[in-house]
Amino acid sequence: MISINGLHKQFGDLEVLKGIDLQINKGEVIVVIGPSGSGKTTLLRCLNILEVPTSGSITIDDQTADFSKSLPKRSIDLFRKKSAMVFQHYNLFPHMTAIQNVMEGPVIVKKLSKAEARKKAEQLLIKVGLGDKLDFYPHQLSGGQQQRVGIARALALEPKVMLFDEPTSALDPELVGEVLQVMKDLAGEGITMVVVTHEMRFANDVADEVIFMDQGKIIERSKPVDMFTNPKEERTKQFLNLLQ
Ligand code: ADP
Repeated sequence: MISINGLHKQFGDLEVLKGIDLQINKGEVIVVIGPSGSGKTTLLRCLNILEVPTSGSITIDDQTADFSKSLPKRSIDLFRKKSAMVFQHYNLFPHMTAIQNVMEGPVIVKKLSKAEARKKAEQLLIKVGLGDKLDFYPHQLSGGQQQRVGIARALALEPKVMLFDEPTSALDPELVGEVLQVMKDLAGEGITMVVVTHEMRFANDVADEVIFMDQGKIIERSKPVDMFTNPKEERTKQFLNLLQ
């Protein structure tokens, strides 16, 4: 489903991704962990070309983006449609209600009629437990509810892969559970997901595999039970010890 090959990203002189190679199968939930500044968010943003990689290539489904060549806008648009991002700070449109936020993508990107988009958005908001909040504006919703709108909005684009960038780290602790539960349910439905998170319990319970990144490289990839009970690399051990 996803193949990342030799991916590099530089910001000026700073090399943030130093050759990432990663294959992800359909339906897999991959959790990315690692210290702050190790490149986790940048990797996720590259998957959606919110950041343009410096070199390397990414294939998602039937679309390949080869960053050693200049990409025509049309290819970038097609490639972007393969994934949808859930952001740390939700990034909802403040002047639109929950249902308008969810409808926006399908109407603009997928050219759905407003009636069709509304029907679908309603179903998705019901799915994330917000059937009674369709006409609420973001400021009338809690952080956890806003993030669930963010998840519904991403799902409305019918992506092949859902990208989650620290989706619970801006939330008050008591609101984290409701968002993780929605994500757990999606994982159970077989949606392919790449999740950057500090929620080790979620990683342990839901991930098919956990990736540990440090200084722009993938240091270790393994099943959660192996990562958390028997990490192979010294740097992984140090990182996990610090969390305890
Ligand atoms: P992580 O998600 O693991 O905390 P990031 O991918 O956010 O790491 O950042 C990795 C490094 O890239 C950091 O040193 C950060 O300051 C730098 N960085 C991220 N985005 C930019 C940017 N747009 N311009 C310059 N430097 C950036």
